[in-house]
Amino acid sequence: MNILQSYIAGRWVGARAARPLASAINGRVVAHTHEETIDFGESLAHARGTALPALLRTHFQDRARALKALAAYLLEHKERLYAVSAHSGATRADSWIDVEGGIGTLFAYASIGGKDLPSSNVLHEGPPMRLGADNHFIGSHVLVPRRGVAVHINAFNFPIWGMLEKFAPSFLAGMPCLVKPATATSYVAEACVRLIVESGLVPDGALQLVIGGTGDLLDRLQEPDVVTFTGSADTALTLKAHTNLLRRSIPFNAEADSLNCAILAPDVTPEDPEFELFIKEVAREMTAKAGQKCTAIRRTLVPRHLTDAVAGALKARLAKVVVGDPAVDGVRMGALASKAQQADVAQRVAQLAERCEVLLGERDGFAPRGEGVADGAFFAPTLLLAREPATSDAHHVEAFGPVTTLMPYDDFDEALHLATLGRGSLVGTLCTKTPALAARAVPTFAAWHGRMLVLDREAALESTGHGSPLPRLKHGGPGRAGGGEELGGLRAVKHYLQRCAVQGSPTMLSAVTGEYQRGGAVTESEVHPFRRHFEDVEVGMSLLTHRRTVGEADIVAFGGLSGDYFYMHFDEVAARESAFGQRIAHGYFVLSAAAGLFVSPAPGPVLANYGLENLRFVTPVAIGDTIQARLTAKRKIDRPPRDGQPLQGVIGWDVAVTNQRGELCASYEILTLVAKRASD
Ligand code: NDP
Repeated sequence: MNILQSYIAGRWVGARAARPLASAINGRVVAHTHEETIDFGESLAHARGTALPALLRTHFQDRARALKALAAYLLEHKERLYAVSAHSGATRADSWIDVEGGIGTLFAYASIGGKDLPSSNVLHEGPPMRLGADNHFIGSHVLVPRRGVAVHINAFNFPIWGMLEKFAPSFLAGMPCLVKPATATSYVAEACVRLIVESGLVPDGALQLVIGGTGDLLDRLQEPDVVTFTGSADTALTLKAHTNLLRRSIPFNAEADSLNCAILAPDVTPEDPEFELFIKEVAREMTAKAGQKCTAIRRTLVPRHLTDAVAGALKARLAKVVVGDPAVDGVRMGALASKAQQADVAQRVAQLAERCEVLLGERDGFAPRGEGVADGAFFAPTLLLAREPATSDAHHVEAFGPVTTLMPYDDFDEALHLATLGRGSLVGTLCTKTPALAARAVPTFAAWHGRMLVLDREAALESTGHGSPLPRLKHGGPGRAGGGEELGGLRAVKHYLQRCAVQGSPTMLSAVTGEYQRGGAVTESEVHPFRRHFEDVEVGMSLLTHRRTVGEADIVAFGGLSGDYFYMHFDEVAARESAFGQRIAHGYFVLSAAAGLFVSPAPGPVLANYGLENLRFVTPVAIGDTIQARLTAKRKIDRPPRDGQPLQGVIGWDVAVTNQRGELCASYEILTLVAKRASD
């Protein structure tokens, strides 16, 4: 008998069978939950006492590297996950979203961490601002690990992706996680956690698994902890109103069911490629994962005169979808996750059908393919039509399966209004070929949606689709969708960090943020900073260059080289009449001349200059002015080793170019790749 186990305080818990969990395909028991209750006091003590200190001994970059290694490990063993996932009724394509989508999210966060986070546990969120006239007092923000535990309560539909998309940013942020998968598919999440534990890549206690209920877990949480939730709006409401969470202001992020819509704009005709794209998108969202996607299109809004055309095209496409055991050749849609879901969806469809026409559904001779499927949790693709959409139940009743309701509209403003009746959605699609319509619609949509797909023939060439949350784009929507935010690149990591405003002198803020702040104390470097390896450059090391007087010949020569004969540099009369009252040097000449002042020309550890940021030309440089540059190591970003490349890191250098009066002429940060000593 396969008894699932929780992973608590470094050991697997569970030996006695409790609730049986059935295969969605044929109803056979796949696993049992365990009967033993979990000691959440012990679990949290382990997370706080063992995992947290271990995580805080590492920094963002270390954890990004661990995530990458973990992603590679899971990828290597992915077939074990596919095998288990099949019991949940998923086709190979559905499992791909869960398994490789989840692993891809780990890779994405490893990359985001590697590129955008420092080799410390203090993330500076600049730019700093002057709070006094003479730059002795500045303010900025830092984000630091919350020193708490993240509790993730997940939905049944994507047991791996749902776990990893929350684990990745919380782990990067240095939070131990307690993951509670939905019971119905907890055997899939358990298989994944077993692999993670086996990998040895995650510190002891940094990921604990809860099979079954949460007991007194929420009562035991403390101020630095965080709770995230994906599932139904009703459970979200119960949990977010938990007294202990409210009393201690414990952040609660909810991603709940949402009644997403897709709108076929009135400019599209059945002859346009956009019409076919729209049909494909709606059909795909109905059938992928048997419609059990929080992003699935539940409301399909079409111009009234195209209702029959859309209904006909959708019915034709859906009629071709073979439903059954995904192991059988040709099957394109699997089962719902459980018999309970099947009953729930049937009940919701019945409710919707009271005031809708059923254009396609079970009565049309639905017969899933495969052995034993009569005991499975299959559901026929179901197309409903609400001829009076303003009063349709489809704006508030969600059938979490392969179900959509067609809603005809008379004019575009009505369509935009109908979209808002879902009271907040994760995602919406607008299919149009007219940019002006998109420009008109999206601001209205955006107030009610977490994400918008504007679909036309050009985007379709590369579109990732209506239903795919992407690691670098925000996932989560307002109102009914839960009001939360997940993913969105670095934003997700910041949700698990605590932001604090810091005020003080530039020298103090340099020390606190680990980044040199202009005006702070510098260390004059005897050795040219460009002659130092990555490890030997310290933030604040600085070089004040020799000076250079800019003459007319410089301007003429630079104009000749670049072909830039702008009047401000070459037309004495026009320049005199301009705001500057005289000819001035090209800004790009000032940049080039500054580089000439501060570079160290001989070959050395600086491998490349790959860009500059935050460039501002402040005071113009006139003929006869004398400029000087100060180059100061501002920040260091370690880089993981890459095949075929010398070991290296990125150094951001603060550059201030001043004139003979000490006025700031140009200000920017240059980014260089610098070799490590070990690479020699
Ligand atoms: P639920 O809200 O019932 O469950 C979601 C998660 O919360 C599960 O892990 C569940 O655990 C847990 N949970 C439920 N009650 C409590 C509680 N009192 N304390 C702590 N944890 C709790 O949603 P379902 O998974 O049953 O799905 C129902 C509906 O949710 C779907 O029909 C759909 O409408 C929506 N949904 C939305 C998703 C989204 O991504 N936005 C995804 C999936 C579903 P357990 O399983 O053990 O009960």
